[in-house]
Amino acid sequence: VPELPEVETVVRGLRSCLLDKRISSVMATGKRLRLPMPAASQKKLLGRKFSEVARRGKWIILVLDNDSRLLIHLGMTGQLRVQPAKEAVQPHTHLIMGLGRGGEQLRFRDVRRFGGATLLPSGPALNLFFEKSGLGPEPFELKQDYWERVISSTRRCLKAVLLDQRVLAGVGNIYADEALFEARVHPAQLGVGTSNRESARLRRALVRVLERAITCRGSSIRDYLGASGHKGRYQNEFRVYGQSGKPCPRCRFGIERIQLAGRSTHFCPRCQVLVSTTHAKTMRNGQT
Ligand SMILES: [Zn+2]
Repeated sequence: VPELPEVETVVRGLRSCLLDKRISSVMATGKRLRLPMPAASQKKLLGRKFSEVARRGKWIILVLDNDSRLLIHLGMTGQLRVQPAKEAVQPHTHLIMGLGRGGEQLRFRDVRRFGGATLLPSGPALNLFFEKSGLGPEPFELKQDYWERVISSTRRCLKAVLLDQRVLAGVGNIYADEALFEARVHPAQLGVGTSNRESARLRRALVRVLERAITCRGSSIRDYLGASGHKGRYQNEFRVYGQSGKPCPRCRFGIERIQLAGRSTHFCPRCQVLVSTTHAKTMRNGQT
C-alpha cells in the first residue's frame, strides 16, 4: 500500500517525465474507480500541458497549464507510470494519456480499484477538496504545539492517531510502526498518557523515518513501482514492520505483533515500554 514515501517517489519520477509535455490523447476504460472521471473531464485534458507535479499526503497532483489539477490516488495497488506507447497495455489499466507526439503514454493501472483519478478546475478547487476531506498537515510541516494538542487530547492509541489522515497526512501502517519504534514509544500508548517529550520524539522520528524511506525510493511490497518502473528498497530496512519473531535491531529481544486500530502492529516490547493505561492492562492480560 503506497504511503507518503512511495507517493513522493512516484511524484519525483513523474516530474522529470511529464513537465512541459502535452496530452495528445485520452483513453479511459470507464470502470468505476474511487473517484469520478467522466467523459467531459477526459475531453478537458486533451491538449493541456503538465506544468507541475506535486504531492499532498498520499495524493498525486498533476497541475495543468490552464490551472486545472488532475488528482490521483494510488489506493492500495495503483501504479502511475510513463511507458513507451508500443509497450503492451497491462490488464487493469484504467486511464491512458498519450504524451507529445504519442511515443510515450502516462498510464494509470489499479488492480483492486481503490485508487482513482479526478479533474478539478483550479488550485482553489483543489484546496477545497482537501479541506472537505479534512486532510491533516504534512509530517514535514508538523508544528509541535499542534501535535502536542492533538495527542494529549485523544483517548485513542498512538498507532490509531498516526493512521488518521485528518490528524496527519500520508502515514500508513508501515511508517507508523517504524516511527513508533524509532521514537521508543509503545503503539498502544494512549494519546492522553503521552508526555510532550514523547510526542516531540515521535514527531522527529516520523520525519527521520519518512526521509530515509524517500531516499530508498520507498518500499516495494505487493504492486508498488516508481514512475519509471523501479522498485523501492526500504523494505530491506524495516526494523519492526513485518519482522515479528525476529530479534530487535536495538536490544535483540523478539519483535512482537498485535492488532491495533484494526491493523497488525509490530513493536519491540523491551524498547517500547508501555506506560500504565487502561489499554495497557488488557494488553498485559493478553486480551488483545
Ligand atoms: Zn528492542
